[in-house]
Amino acid sequence: MYKLTHKQYYEALKKNKLLGLKCFTCGGYTTPPKLCCDNCGSTELEIAELSGRGEIKTYTVVRVAPEGLNAPYIVVLVELEEGPWLMGNVDNVNIDEACMELIAKKVTVAHKTVTGMNYTAGEGVTPLFIIE
Ligand SMILES: [Zn+2]
Repeated sequence: MYKLTHKQYYEALKKNKLLGLKCFTCGGYTTPPKLCCDNCGSTELEIAELSGRGEIKTYTVVRVAPEGLNAPYIVVLVELEEGPWLMGNVDNVNIDEACMELIAKKVTVAHKTVTGMNYTAGEGVTPLFIIE
C-alpha cells in the first residue's frame, strides 16, 4: 500500500510544497514517493513535508527535446537538505551562459506545468528549481 501516492505528491507540488516519506527505521527521507525507503528498504514510512531547499549537484542542457517539449532547457539534479536527490528544471538561468558555476548553487523548489504529449496522460507538473 502506498503511503504517499504520486497524485498527492503532484497536487502538493502544484502548491510548491514538496512531500516525501520519512522512514521510521533509519530516519531517512525518500522523494519522489516510493513503496519503500531509498536508504534501507523499510516500508515503515510516514508522509513528511520537505523544506524544498537544496543544492545543485549536476546539470545538463537539453538542446534536442523529446517530442512535445521545447528545447533548449536545463535539467538539474539537486541534493535536498533532507538527503534525497531530485531531478527537475531550473529557472532564472540564461541557458547560453549555463556553466559549471551552476554546481553548488542553492535552490528552492517551485513547479512547472507541463502540457500533455503523446507519452503522458495529459497535463502534468514537474519540479522547477529557483536559484536563491
Ligand atoms: Zn530507511
